[in-house]
Amino acid sequence: MPTEQDIRTALGHVRYPGFSRDILSFGLVKSIQINDADVVVELSLATRDPNIPRLIHEQAMDVLKAVPGVGDVRLNFDIKDPPGSAATAADKLGKASIPGVKRVIAVGSGKGGVGKSTVASNLAVALSGSGLRVGLCDCDLYGPSIAHMFGTDERPYQNEEQQIVPIERDGLQLMSMGFLLEDNSPVIVRGPIATRYTQQFLRQVAWHDLDVLVLDLPPGTGDIQLTIVQTVALDGAVIVTTPQEIALIDARKAVAMFQKVNVPILGIIENMSYFLCPSDGQAYHIFGKGGGEKEARRLGVPLLGQIPIEMNVRERADEGHPIAFEDPAKSEASRVFREIAAKLK
Ligand code: ADP
Repeated sequence: MPTEQDIRTALGHVRYPGFSRDILSFGLVKSIQINDADVVVELSLATRDPNIPRLIHEQAMDVLKAVPGVGDVRLNFDIKDPPGSAATAADKLGKASIPGVKRVIAVGSGKGGVGKSTVASNLAVALSGSGLRVGLCDCDLYGPSIAHMFGTDERPYQNEEQQIVPIERDGLQLMSMGFLLEDNSPVIVRGPIATRYTQQFLRQVAWHDLDVLVLDLPPGTGDIQLTIVQTVALDGAVIVTTPQEIALIDARKAVAMFQKVNVPILGIIENMSYFLCPSDGQAYHIFGKGGGEKEARRLGVPLLGQIPIEMNVRERADEGHPIAFEDPAKSEASRVFREIAAKLK
C-alpha cells in the first residue's frame, strides 16, 4: 500500500502549467486519501483556463500511476474563478482573497488605546452610510471590542458548509474572532496556534456579497498582525495614531510592516486630535498638535482626517451605537468619519 509521503513526492513532480513550481508547493493539494491501493486527491484551483486542470490532471495521473502499489487514482478539482487582477497578483505571492468580499481594508495601529477599534467601527458605519455593503471583522483575539461597540452579545452560527455566518446589525455584517472563544480561552491561544487560528478563521466566514470588509487588526506589529498582512490579499491599510510622539513612533512601525509586504497605505487617521471645549469653543490639543500631519508628510502618505475627542464618541460606543450614525451637524467626529469614508470609497 502506498504511503501519503509516496503520493506527495510524486505530486511534487507535477508542474503548474507555465510555471517552474510544482502544484504541491503552490498549495493546491488540499487532501490525499488512501484506501488500500486506491488514491483520491483533492485539488483546489483558481483559474478560468480549462487547459490548466486538464494539463495538471494528465501529469498527475501519469506520476501517481507510476508509484509502486497504486491502484485506482481519482483527482477531484475544486475550481474557482480567479479574483480581480489585483487579487490575482496577490495570490501569486501566496495571499488568499476572502470569499464574498470585493475589497479588504485593514485598520492597524502601532499600539493599543489610540482608538483603533473606535475608528474601525465608525469607518465601517460611515462606509455603509455611503451606500456600500460593508463587513467589519474584529481580529483581536485578546481584546475583542466590536461586539460591545455594536451592543450585541449574539453568537454567530455555522451553516451547512461549516462556515461561520456573520451577525447582521444596522445593515453591517459583523464578525469577531472573540465570538468563537470561551470566556477564558484566549490565554491558551498563543503564538503559532493563534496565527493558524487567525488564518483559518478569515477563510471560514460566510461574508455575503460585500463591497468592503474592514479588518480591525490587533494593536501592534507582532506575529498575528504579520500573519494577517502576509496571508490575506489586503487592498490597503489605514493607520490610527494620536498626535502624541510615542504613538507616532509606533505608528511608523505599523506603516513599515505594511510596506514590507507591499500593502498600500491608504493614509493615517489622527484620533483624539483636540478637544473642542463646549463652554468656550476653544480647541485644546491635549495630546499635542500637528503630529499626525507631520508624520504623514514624512512617510509620504495622506492624512485622511483628524478626529476630535468627544464625550459622545465613547458614550455612543458604550451604548452600542457608534458616533458615525449621528447627524454630522451635531458631531464633528461623525462629520470627519464620513469625510474619511468618502475618501476611501
Ligand atoms: P484601541 O482599539 O486602539 O485599543 P479603542 O477604540 O478601544 O482603542 O478606544 C479606547 C477608548 O477611548 C475607548 O473607551 C473609546 O471609546 C475611547 N475613544 C476613542 N476615540 C475617542 C475619541 N475620539 N473621543 C473620545 N473617546 C474616544
